[in-house]
Amino acid sequence: MEATPHQRVRNNLEELGLDRMAATVGEHMSLVASGAKTFPESMLEMTDAQLAAVRERDLWRRVEKANFPYVKTLADFDFSFQPSIPRGVVEDLAGLGWLDRRENVVLVGSPGVGKTHIAVALGVEAVRARKLTYFADCQRLVSDLKRASEKGALERRMRFYAHLSLLILDEVGYLEVDKEGADLVFQLVSRRYERRSTIVTTNVGIGAWAKVFGDPVTASAIADRLCHHCTVIRITGRSYRTKDLPPERGEGALEGRQ
Ligand code: ADP
Ligand code: MG
Repeated sequence: MEATPHQRVRNNLEELGLDRMAATVGEHMSLVASGAKTFPESMLEMTDAQLAAVRERDLWRRVEKANFPYVKTLADFDFSFQPSIPRGVVEDLAGLGWLDRRENVVLVGSPGVGKTHIAVALGVEAVRARKLTYFADCQRLVSDLKRASEKGALERRMRFYAHLSLLILDEVGYLEVDKEGADLVFQLVSRRYERRSTIVTTNVGIGAWAKVFGDPVTASAIADRLCHHCTVIRITGRSYRTKDLPPERGEGALEGRQ
């Protein structure tokens, strides 16, 4: 039996990849036939729904490329749990003016206080604004660059990191970086300096980076460039991860790298 025009419209929409329209077109045809909706009203509703779905999928594709360890936003963040965080400053950062000015953000605090969450949330805003964003754990970035160097592909890999509109360098300070690693981080930070924005999360104050990067000269060269145009947020408070444990176990119960 030959397909009816109704069925053919649905098939065409499916073949065109317009799944949301295909799903509701039958219902809309009935609504239009009965006079409950005009044709333009139905078309507008269907195309709006399809457009929203396309935009949402596109956003998720870009979010996946950004390599976040988890996807959370500022709406998921309980500011009342962590009163040391200047809420107004963080909300202002979500407006991304600093990104357009090629400035940086450094989040300092002990484990579990929300550094990575805020970095990711700002990263998600950047992705929403179509800024090329990438999240990298500091150790992973260092080993990635070392591996590229061994293969003679350092320049190519360096260019990948250097060209990102936003690089999130997570967990600086959890593990020490050797001389070669520190030089690679310095090269990258220099190339991004005043050209692209970086968010750094660290569990040690910037003054203690000399120990992280082996020698004080490289450490201060890295810190100088990152902190020149920079918003520093220091978070002092309890770990959100251990918030439900009794205080005597909660404090310091999960020290170290998390
Ligand atoms: P760190 O400071 O070690 O990077 P995270 O930001 O990863 O810690 O936070 C640890 C976990 O607790 C994450 O799942 C994060 O989403 C959650 N978290 C931390 N602080 C808050 C908060 N104030 N409100 C809601 N969730 C939080
Ligand atoms: Mg973290």
